[in-house]
Amino acid sequence: MRIIMKMIGNYIKHLPASNEPLSADVYLIDGDKYCYVYDVGNNDESLSIIEGISKDKVIILSHYHQDHVGNLDKLQFRELYVGNLTYETIGKGTVVEDSYMIHDGITIEIKHCPSPHVSGSLIVTINKEYTLIADLYFTRQVYDTALASEMLNTLESIDTKYFVVSHQVETSIFEKEYLISELKEYFNYEGK
Ligand SMILES: [Zn+2]
Repeated sequence: MRIIMKMIGNYIKHLPASNEPLSADVYLIDGDKYCYVYDVGNNDESLSIIEGISKDKVIILSHYHQDHVGNLDKLQFRELYVGNLTYETIGKGTVVEDSYMIHDGITIEIKHCPSPHVSGSLIVTINKEYTLIADLYFTRQVYDTALASEMLNTLESIDTKYFVVSHQVETSIFEKEYLISELKEYFNYEGK
């Protein structure tokens, strides 16, 4: 099996999403002591790269959809961070209600972000440079306007240069200003 990983910056390894089976992007963030895994995917490629990590793993799940969490039960890990709805669905992990900071050679902030796509989502900012936001860029035709504006406010408040989005084909990395302006346009956001 040939697995093609990409690098994001110097310290994030990225396995892009697949469609058959539907499996979300997996990100490996290398700390001094632990390797931080953001979403575990739902295919064999994801499973084998995560199993191949030599350091102890800390897993962070963006949300409970199968393409993001499917491999979880097959994996061993030191710690698992989840949002409240993910906890209700999978029944394990430490719930991050608001924000949680980790210092391990790199600085990681795990943060709850409201979302019309799926509430209870967690996003991860690394060294104030990249913020991994999984599926927050996607939404449905019918969405909750209040949630959309809460999400925009949260994203605006994050001190990061880039947002990294799952399920993208061309590029996964968007400048903060660009992504927020696209989302505002999509939501016909008037501002508050
Ligand atoms: Zn997804």
